[in-house]
This record gives sequence, structure tokens and C-alpha cells, in this order.
Amino acid sequence: MTGLRLQGVCKRYGSTPVLGGLDLSLAPGELVCLVGPSGCGKSTLLRLIAGLDRDYSGHIEAGTRLGMVFQAPRLMPWLNALDNVRLVLPAGEEGRRRARTALESVGLGEQLAAYPGQLSGGQQRRVALARAYAVEPQLLLLDEPFVSLDAPSAQRLRELLLLWWRASRATVLFVTHDLDEALGLADRIVFLGGRPARTVLELSLTAPRPRPPELRAQLQRDLLARHPHLLSGQANSGG
Ligand code: ADP
Repeated sequence: MTGLRLQGVCKRYGSTPVLGGLDLSLAPGELVCLVGPSGCGKSTLLRLIAGLDRDYSGHIEAGTRLGMVFQAPRLMPWLNALDNVRLVLPAGEEGRRRARTALESVGLGEQLAAYPGQLSGGQQRRVALARAYAVEPQLLLLDEPFVSLDAPSAQRLRELLLLWWRASRATVLFVTHDLDEALGLADRIVFLGGRPARTVLELSLTAPRPRPPELRAQLQRDLLARHPHLLSGQANSGG
């Protein structure tokens, strides 16, 4: 089982620095949420970790088996749910079995033959999750995967993610701008801010999951009382 290690990662687009020497380590099996204001470089960082962009300096050590879930489900409209998941797997009966198991694990066992256009937004996200789970990733990267879903659907998908994470023992890096979501999911929240972006604060969460809404609200109030500008990417000194 591997975690993730970033050392001094710098990224610029042309002359604009976006990431300014970022250090970040995830222990194997840890679930970390990355929170920061829009445009601060969160998606850029995930793309570097996923190997989709190799134009950076610094050091990134990630496992070899990576899964990624994006903001949009990114399904092929001409393939049914089963074949969308099979796309990432070896051809043949073994791939078919793994795709079916992954779809069953997200509650889509009855929709294997449905095309994306016949599925709700929440069901399409489930297919995207199943596609990521099917590769049995050591490291799962998620970039605001539940954004723009209604609140109950998003909550069900978070519960499914936690179930999968517990069973798989994978390392998870979850990007969100939703502090409540991060407070519900994470072992640790890493807050990014500034231009170029750096880590401005880290918060470890020890309360067992599921964390009820009142607890999350209390944690949020306490945190923002100490760091009123945290969600704009600024933390007060002194932690
Ligand atoms: P976040 O995910 O935190 O919203 P992004 O990583 O998408 O932020 O973007 C960080 C910054 O880099 C933004 O200012 C964005 O405009 C810029 N950016 C992102 N992708 C590119 C690109 N391909 N070329 C130039 N600038 C980019």
C-alpha cells in the first residue's frame, strides 16, 4: 500500500506561478481533503499527481495504480453503464465481471445496460465512481466529484465513497471548496491559499464517521472563528 508524497512542487502557466513549492504527504490509507478558493490551483495539482501534466518542478511520488474522478462524469454517451466501466479494464470475461461488481457496489446493478442519457445526474456520478473503483486504485484522486448534485444525492455518494474507502484501504485525495463536505469526510484537511498557492493550514479530524450535521457545523464555526478568512485562502498565524 502506498501513500503520496509531494516535495517542493512548483507549477507555472507561462510567467504566472500557480503552485509555489508545495509539500504534502499522505500516509497509506489516509483520506485527505484539499480545500481552497476557486482558481488557487487545486485541479492543477491533481493533474500533476495524476501524471496528466508533467511540466512542473519538484518531486511527486505516487503509487502506480491511480484512479481519478472529475467534476463531470465524463461518460461515453454511446456506451451503456457496463461498457463505460469496461473501457478502463482488460477486455474479456474478467473485465466484465469486475465492471459488474463495481457497478453493483454503487447500487447500479439493475442499470448495467442503461446509457448515460437514461441515467440521472447522480447515477452518472455513480458510474464515474464505479469506473474509478474498478481499477482497484492504490490512490484515488477526486476533483469536486459531487458538485452540482442535489444535497441528498451528494450525501449518498459520500457515504458510498466512505464504504469503498474502508473496504479498499486506498489513499484518497479529495478536492472540494465545500468545507462542510471536507469536515464530513476527511482524516485531515489541507487548506491551500495565496498566489502562488501554498498550504496555509492543516486540520486533523479524529471524530468517528459518520459525523452528524450539528458536529460539522460546530467544527466549522470553531475553525472560522479562529481563521475568519480561511476560505479565501488565508489563515491567522498560530494555527
Ligand atoms: P482550482 O482547481 O483551485 O479552481 P485551477 O487549478 O483550475 O484552480 O487553476 C489555477 C490557476 O491556473 C487559475 O488562475 C487558472 O486560471 C490557471 N490555469 C489553469 N489551467 C490553465 C492553463 N491550462 N493555462 C493557463 N492557466 C491555467
